[in-house]
Amino acid sequence: MTEGLAAIIWAVGLFAWFVIRLPYQRRARKIRVAAAQRTLSERLLLPAAGIGLSVIPAFYLATGIPAFADYQFRPWMGWCGLVVEVLFLALFYASHRQLGRNWSVTLEIRDGHRLVTDGLYKYVRHPMYSSFWLWAIAQAFLLPNWVAGLSGLVGVGLLYFGRVGAEEALMQQSFGDQYRSYAAKTGRVIPRIF
Ligand code: SAH
Repeated sequence: MTEGLAAIIWAVGLFAWFVIRLPYQRRARKIRVAAAQRTLSERLLLPAAGIGLSVIPAFYLATGIPAFADYQFRPWMGWCGLVVEVLFLALFYASHRQLGRNWSVTLEIRDGHRLVTDGLYKYVRHPMYSSFWLWAIAQAFLLPNWVAGLSGLVGVGLLYFGRVGAEEALMQQSFGDQYRSYAAKTGRVIPRIF
């Protein structure tokens, strides 16, 4: 594995993310929103994640800036990055399929919204966010630069910690005890072992 190949894997991952999401984004436009939570912080979190996962690393790959933050690439980093990237895409795809018409890019409850508790959702309440964490970890392995490699973790961290509490509050408001008992049995992004 070379540094160039690792960069290509990162870029293919970003393209695959876009292709997987596109049909859900199109379909979501046609389903009426019954309740939404569009706070200022919610509006800032998605761009923050986008900057960390795409703008900063793409700028680094195009220009080599910031070169002072470069470190030595090793083939094992590329292989780890490839494995984690594939896991990310598999989980990202499966969570979209299983959430189906209940998916939204922001925090929303749609007309006829159903609480999904099967498939991946039987084990974790936020498998799509689990996939985002994997995406950021893959980026850290694939790009040998402290700024471009770690910006994804910062972006996903901001999105995740800024949003997950509000999302669960919205779900509880909409599904009440059904959500409370579901939450008691599942982990947030990592399955509960005990
Ligand atoms: N946090 C989830 C979903 C992300 S998409 C995950 O990581 O997989 C965000 C939207 O999904 C929110 O607007 C919320 O209304 C919806 N949502 C979250 N969990 C859900 C569930 N278990 N069933 C149905 N919809 C859910």
